[in-house]
Amino acid sequence: MSEDLTDEILERMRQAGFALVGACEARPIDRPDLFEAWLQAGHGGEMDWLAARLAERMDPRVMVPGARSVVCVADRYSDGRADRLEPGHGRIARYARGGDYHAIMRERLEPLAEELRDRFPGHRFRVCVDSAPIAERDHAVRAGLGRIGKHTLLIGSGGTGSWLVLGCMVTTVPLRTSAALAGDPCGACTRCIQACPTQAIEPWKVKAERCISYLTIEHAGEPADWFRSRTDDWLFGCDACIEACPHSRPTRRSRRLGANAAYAGGPASLSIQEVLQWQAADWERHAAHGVLRRAPLERWKRNAALLQRGRSTTA
Ligand code: SF4
Ligand code: SF4
Repeated sequence: MSEDLTDEILERMRQAGFALVGACEARPIDRPDLFEAWLQAGHGGEMDWLAARLAERMDPRVMVPGARSVVCVADRYSDGRADRLEPGHGRIARYARGGDYHAIMRERLEPLAEELRDRFPGHRFRVCVDSAPIAERDHAVRAGLGRIGKHTLLIGSGGTGSWLVLGCMVTTVPLRTSAALAGDPCGACTRCIQACPTQAIEPWKVKAERCISYLTIEHAGEPADWFRSRTDDWLFGCDACIEACPHSRPTRRSRRLGANAAYAGGPASLSIQEVLQWQAADWERHAAHGVLRRAPLERWKRNAALLQRGRSTTA
C-alpha cells in the first residue's frame, strides 16, 4: 500500500472523542520474561485467562498474522475529583460507575474498522478492547500515549493521569509510529506504594492476588484471612493508587481536560446494609449493567460483609 493512512486514522480517532491516540509498529513486547515471571509467581491470582494464549499476548503478529501496526486509543473516564463518601457506604471505582468501557470504546472503533475493511479488502483491522490477548499498555507507551508508573498503570500524556481505559486496533497496514515520551514519570516518588491498603504494589509490579480491585471483582469465594479487614472503603474495585499519584490529582488543568460523559452517571457508592440485604432483583436493578455485572450477587454481598467486618474491627 503506497497511501499513508496514519494521519487520517488518528484524526478519525480524535474525532470519535478519544482523549489520547497514537500508532506504533506491531512487534513483540520488550520484556515478556517479566510477565511470565509475574504469572509463575502466582500474582495473577485466579485470572487463568492471562496465561492462556500467551504467544498472542506477547506478540500482536501472532494474533493477526501479517500485522504491521497497532493503533492505540484511550478514553478518560474521570477527572479525578474527590467523592464525598456517605456514612455507611462502600465506594465504587470510578471506571465502573457509568457505561461499560468495552461497549463505549468498541462502538466507536468498529465502524472505522469496518469502513477500512471495505476500502482495503486485502488488509486486516482487528479491534481489541479487553477482548483479545494483547498487551495494551506496552503498545500504548510505544504509541506515545504515556508512560508506565510504579503502580503499573499508564500515566497519560498531557495531564490526563491514569484515569484511562485503553483500546487497540491491530492492522496489517503499515503506519508511522507516533513519538513516545521519554523518561521515568516517578523519580523518587512512592506515594502509590504507601497508599495501597494491602501492600500490593512493588515498583512496577502489582501482586493482583493482594489487590482490592482483583479481590472485590474477580476473586470468587472467601478471601484469605489477612484481607478480611483491609478493603478500606472499597465495595467494587479500588482507586487508591491512582488517587495518590501526583499525575492523577485533580487540578484546574485536569478539570479543563474533562472526562468522557459516557463513564459517568452511576452511583459513586452504595449502602453496605442495603447490599447485604440484596435479593436477585436488587442486584439486577443496581449492578447487572456495565462493568458492575462482573461481580455476581454473592460476591457483592461478600464484599459488603467484608467492609462491614473491617469497619467493626477498626472502630
Ligand atoms: S487498586 Fe488499590 S489495592 Fe490494588 S494496587 Fe491500587 S491501591 Fe493497591
Ligand atoms: S504515585 Fe508516584 S510512584 Fe506511584 S505512579 Fe504516581 S508518580 Fe509514580
